[in-house]
Amino acid sequence: MTTFGSTAALRATMDAYFRDVGAAAEQHLAPVAWCTSVGPAELLRALGFRVFFPENHAAMMGAARTANRYMPLAHAHGYSQEICSYLTSDIGAYLAGESPMQAYGLSGTPRADVLVFNTNQCRDVRDWFEWYGRRWNVPVVGMRSPRAIETVRDDDVDAIARQIEALVPALEAVAGTRLDAGRLEHAVRASRECSDLWEACLRTAARRPAPLNFFDATIHMGPAVVLRGADEAVTYYRTLLAELEGRAAARSAAVEGEAFRLYWDGMPIWGRLRALSSLFAEFRTAVVASTYCNSWIFSALDPADPVRSMARSSLELFIVRSEEAKEDYIARMLDLYHADGIVFHDCRTCPNNTNTRYGMPRRLGERLGIPTLVLDGDVNDLRCVSDEQMRTNVEGFIEQIADARPAAGSAAS
Ligand code: SF4
Repeated sequence: MTTFGSTAALRATMDAYFRDVGAAAEQHLAPVAWCTSVGPAELLRALGFRVFFPENHAAMMGAARTANRYMPLAHAHGYSQEICSYLTSDIGAYLAGESPMQAYGLSGTPRADVLVFNTNQCRDVRDWFEWYGRRWNVPVVGMRSPRAIETVRDDDVDAIARQIEALVPALEAVAGTRLDAGRLEHAVRASRECSDLWEACLRTAARRPAPLNFFDATIHMGPAVVLRGADEAVTYYRTLLAELEGRAAARSAAVEGEAFRLYWDGMPIWGRLRALSSLFAEFRTAVVASTYCNSWIFSALDPADPVRSMARSSLELFIVRSEEAKEDYIARMLDLYHADGIVFHDCRTCPNNTNTRYGMPRRLGERLGIPTLVLDGDVNDLRCVSDEQMRTNVEGFIEQIADARPAAGSAAS
């Protein structure tokens, strides 16, 4: 993984965020809302909630490789081994009385006053939040989204906008305050600014050589996930962008001797980030862009039309789209980032963010004339990961790309 000067600012930003949410929950300094990663965070911030994102919490357990300790507790509680391993890691950790938040001086997962979901990504988030809602006897509210959308239509946007508006009275009751239009506009403006800066950071990887890769970006996207709608995220991405632009100008490569460039589709394998980063680097291959990191770009957000633009953003998201719309998107990204091939992660417990099972790799490979690789794995459950298989598959894939482009030489030798 690349060492960035901005990492100190990243740590400070995330540390302050976790301590702030924890203090709000444990000392009752402010109401706490749990929100799905692409739920209505801006609305929650405008109402004065501290916002906690359990998917980020679960990813921390995946990256720390503690998730497999916790999942069996959720399985024993009746939650299948086949469903989202974020969900089973998180609920299992709660049952074990442990949490990565303890490293920030908190006693455990911050308790929610309300849980707010958006089913645009999957049904699992709702089931996940309802478990806590029953446990803590607190309200669970949310948006029920259409899925597999070809073209985002105005009537779909209207329907989601009405659902956002319908959340307001329930959230005001928990927050003990009325929604202020100016605060909502501010949160949406901050969110859009964060999105634009994050997009600019990712776009630096379109340069050759790329100054950051997918594995770096999964770490540096933290503030875009947990501080969406807050000024702190904007401050952090100004710092990161300045560093990345400097590195791009200096031709400082994330992968030494970059020879090949790939696109990653699907979830990260959190417990193997460093191992995969090293493996690709060994073959002088930069994974320059990904659907996952791009999913925190919300270009439709508009402070002049906060609710409708939030609704549109939630429907334009990659994961909510039809196969055809997804394929067109990936084709555009391949062109933009000059990628030589696509790695599809078949994430065992997340069919929602896995695009391998209905023929997409083959269709895109034929349409674009590029090689594709399907890697079996999982976002958190390392029982689904074979390191030997992964190495063999990646090595063979890079050789295939090198053979198709003899002028580049064989990086695998
Ligand atoms: S999108 Fe996948 S990984 Fe994320 S919460 Fe849903 S099932 Fe879990």
